[in-house]
Amino acid sequence: MDAVTTKDMMAHVAQKMVASEPVLTKYDQAIGDGDHGIGMERGFKAVAELLASDYQPEDVSKLLLKIGSTMMATMGGASGAIFGTLFRSGAKSIKGAQELDAQTLAAFLAGGLQGVYDRGGAKPGDKTMIDALVAAVEVSETLEGDLAEHLPSIADAAALGVEATKQMIATTGKAKTLGERSLGHPDPGAMSMAFILQFMCEFATEQVAA
Ligand code: ADP
Ligand code: MG
Repeated sequence: MDAVTTKDMMAHVAQKMVASEPVLTKYDQAIGDGDHGIGMERGFKAVAELLASDYQPEDVSKLLLKIGSTMMATMGGASGAIFGTLFRSGAKSIKGAQELDAQTLAAFLAGGLQGVYDRGGAKPGDKTMIDALVAAVEVSETLEGDLAEHLPSIADAAALGVEATKQMIATTGKAKTLGERSLGHPDPGAMSMAFILQFMCEFATEQVAA
C-alpha cells in the first residue's frame, strides 16, 4: 500500500474513531474518568482535518509521524502522549518506507510499542493499551507480504488482547485506584488500539474486494 492509499486508510480510521467516541466514553466511565472517548475524538478529528487537506505525505513513515504529532498536540491526557508516541516512534522505525506491507506494519507496531514502554513505563498485564498492542505485535512478527491478507489476524489478535484486559487489575493510570473493581471491565485504551487496527483492516480488505 503506497503513501497516498495509506493516507486514505488513515482517513477512514480517523472517521471511525471519531464515531467510536460514545463506546470509548462508556468504557472509560466504568474504570477511568470518562474522558478517553473525548480525547480520542479530539485527536482523530484533527487527524481527519489534516488528511482532508492538501497535505501530501512524502512517504508512509512521514505520514504516520505527522499523524502522531497531530494527536500529541491536540489530545492531552495520558492517551495523547501514549497514542502520539505509538505513531511517532512507530513511524521513526520505518523511516523512508514507500509502502506499507505486513512487514512494515510489524516494524511500525514493534517500534511504537518500544516507544510506549519508554514513555509510560507500563508493562504487559497492567491493563493498558499495551495489552492489545503486544498481542498485535506478536502476531504481526510472524507474517510477511500483503497487508490486506494479514491485517485480519493482526486486528483479531488485538481484540483478544482487549478481552484479556477484563481479567486484569489496573496497576497504572486512573483505573489504578479502583484496584479489583476494575476486574470484568475492558481497558478503554486497549479498545482504542484494537479499533485502530480493525478500521485499518476494514479499509484494506474492502479495497481489495472493490
Ligand atoms: P487519562 O488516563 O489521562 O484520563 P485517557 O482516559 O484518555 O487518559 O486514556 C486512558 C488510557 O490510556 C488507559 O485506558 C490506558 O490504556 C492508557 N494508558 C494510561 N497510562 C498508560 C501507560 N503508562 N502506558 C500505556 N498506556 C497507558
Ligand atoms: Mg480517562
